Amino acid sequence: KLYNQVQEAKGNIRVFCRCRPLTKEEVSSGCTTIVDFDAAKEGDIGIMTGGSTKKTFKFDRVYAPKNGQADVYADASPLVTSVLDGYNVCIFAYGQTGTGKTFTMEGTEQNRGVNYRTLEELFKIAAERKEAITYKISVSVLEVYNEQIRDLLATSPSTKKLEVRQAAKGFHHVPGIVEAKVENIKEVWDVLKAGSNARAVGSNNVNEHSSRSHCMLCVMVRAKNLMNGESTKGKLWLIDLAGSERLAKTDVQGERLKEAQNINRSLSALGDVMSALATKSSHIPYRNSKLTHLLQDSLGGDSKALMFVQISPTDIDLGETLSSLNFASRVR
Ligand code: ADP
Ligand code: MG
Repeated sequence: KLYNQVQEAKGNIRVFCRCRPLTKEEVSSGCTTIVDFDAAKEGDIGIMTGGSTKKTFKFDRVYAPKNGQADVYADASPLVTSVLDGYNVCIFAYGQTGTGKTFTMEGTEQNRGVNYRTLEELFKIAAERKEAITYKISVSVLEVYNEQIRDLLATSPSTKKLEVRQAAKGFHHVPGIVEAKVENIKEVWDVLKAGSNARAVGSNNVNEHSSRSHCMLCVMVRAKNLMNGESTKGKLWLIDLAGSERLAKTDVQGERLKEAQNINRSLSALGDVMSALATKSSHIPYRNSKLTHLLQDSLGGDSKALMFVQISPTDIDLGETLSSLNFASRVR
């Protein structure tokens, strides 16, 4: 409750910064850590930019490498579960490839991430409330690659291009997209598996492909209050964004150039939309990318958004780290 009050007072966008641990290779090759977590409790993170110079950024939360999945989820939980009360919510993981976006969102079987923990909690709360409210939960899994939407749950490849359409009352949807009804966490797990298998199809390097596309999980919650007959609908987006790194100019040609331009375009469109919302601008430029267009009814208004800005701890990644932290500071 207190957390929610703080949230109201502060507006609807928060940013959590998470730094991954040094890898074994980085330790053995003598990489140094340039991140200072001394004031992490206050939401400050310091980056040593060379010599004794330190640049400090402020966020709603800062997670050091020692913080685990449960710490992160504990802070995200009030936000994600508000979808049960009819709120639209967007969670993003932003950052350079290799900084832990997928770890935070998907996690591993031993170390579940936000996606799994969220669905697990939604089912738990729904069961607790079942005398008063019935919930219908369904999931869609999409990928946006080169400004094209792909339905990862479609059983046969669609010949028709998937597009965002606006239905009544500002509700946005993608006609033809599969919405899988789920009744327990086991069914969710099967759906997520199917989605990630589909993602691999047709790409010769799965890791490379996933770092160049946005993976978007959409959880739809329809609630019916048995006491007063009232119905509500909430939508929760859980998004593992494409890697934010700039490719070296010499690498960028042909298909790669197009990919890089599309990633830049959609990530900057997202930054523009979120900073327009943060500054309460009268024009919110949703239409500049597929990503923001898909989220038009879920960003702004009384929707809630959370961005994880993921960073690397090493000196080698200083440039990308500063660019990610600057991006994230702008949306808050
Ligand atoms: P991204 O999706 O941003 O490219 P990944 O999530 O694939 O990055 O993370 C890269 C590697 O670092 C993976 O092996 C992942 O398990 C590991 N990793 C990332 N963040 C953490 C963390 N907070 N704790 C432990 N391992 C992590
Ligand atoms: Mg990833």
